[in-house]
Amino acid sequence: MADCIFCKIAGGAIPAVKIYEDELVFAFLDIGPINPGHVLVIPREHHESASTIPETTAGRMFRVGARIGIALKRLDAYDAYNLHLADGTAAGQVVMHAHLHVIPRGVNDQFHWNWRQIAYADDAAKTAMAEEIQKHLHLD
Ligand code: 5GP
Ligand code: ZN
Repeated sequence: MADCIFCKIAGGAIPAVKIYEDELVFAFLDIGPINPGHVLVIPREHHESASTIPETTAGRMFRVGARIGIALKRLDAYDAYNLHLADGTAAGQVVMHAHLHVIPRGVNDQFHWNWRQIAYADDAAKTAMAEEIQKHLHLD
């Protein structure tokens, strides 16, 4: 897509520090890392949402992301990694070309996800929620 910064990075029109590329995906250093070595894996093809990425490409993104995560774990500074994907503005997506974050983590890296855990009102609320999700789930 003409105006997309990540399409331009994958096409070489905007420079980035490349980690890996093949015919389906491109991986490069995030310009504003959570920790040094934070990588983004993107499909070469423009997709705003992860949900429209063809299965082969999506699978490649996950595989490459996980293998980059393993490479990061081999570095002295790191013990683990997070894979993260924000799909939609409310989820924190800023660049509207789908991308998988690979975030290296160390036990003392002082980074804490803003995680929370709420409770369902009761079991009926859980069942109703599961049924709502299943009603709207289309895998074709
Ligand atoms: P999002 O919030 O959309 O999941 O993450 C977008 C990510 O893209 C951010 O972590 C940001 O630092 C990174 N980013 C935005 N623009 C550029 C850029 O021009 N080059 C690189 N390498 N990373 C970028
Ligand atoms: Zn794009």
